[in-house]
Amino acid sequence: MPELLKSHVEACYQKAEAFFKRPFKRPSVSFKLRGQKAGVAHLQENLLRFNPKLYQENREDFLRQTVPHEVAHLIAHQLFGSKIQPHGEEWQLIMRGVYELPPNRCHTYAVERRQVTRYIYRCPCPQSDFAFTAQRHRMVVQGRRYLCRRCRQTLVFSGETRIE
Ligand SMILES: [Zn+2]
Ligand SMILES: [Zn+2]
Repeated sequence: MPELLKSHVEACYQKAEAFFKRPFKRPSVSFKLRGQKAGVAHLQENLLRFNPKLYQENREDFLRQTVPHEVAHLIAHQLFGSKIQPHGEEWQLIMRGVYELPPNRCHTYAVERRQVTRYIYRCPCPQSDFAFTAQRHRMVVQGRRYLCRRCRQTLVFSGETRIE
């Protein structure tokens, strides 16, 4: 867990405490989050989870936007309870009032698409081109046969691969 992130969470809490003139219980902070979400606030557990990969790639924006965004969810929950909308007016009030940020719902990081290798298979049909997944290609190597629906011939690996 990077110290910078931790201290930023703390700073967000201190801002909220100064604004609302009351203490807020500090959350547990975890760095175990994968996939496309930058952060998640677990309201019942008072837990924040952040995505280490997206933090590495967008550190500045992460500290400026994502940390206050998620902290604001927990603050809103402590102030207004569990009946409010996640990105409703209470949360927006905190974003605008405490953090002076536009209350954007989404974390807009460009998540790079994972590149995958396709294995090109052909049959006698003109311009045939079947892009097999690695898994399917492995099945063929293990003896499985796939037929072209048109010519009913076995699809044969061309030796070519393609990155998609
Ligand atoms: Zn949110
Ligand atoms: Zn064919």
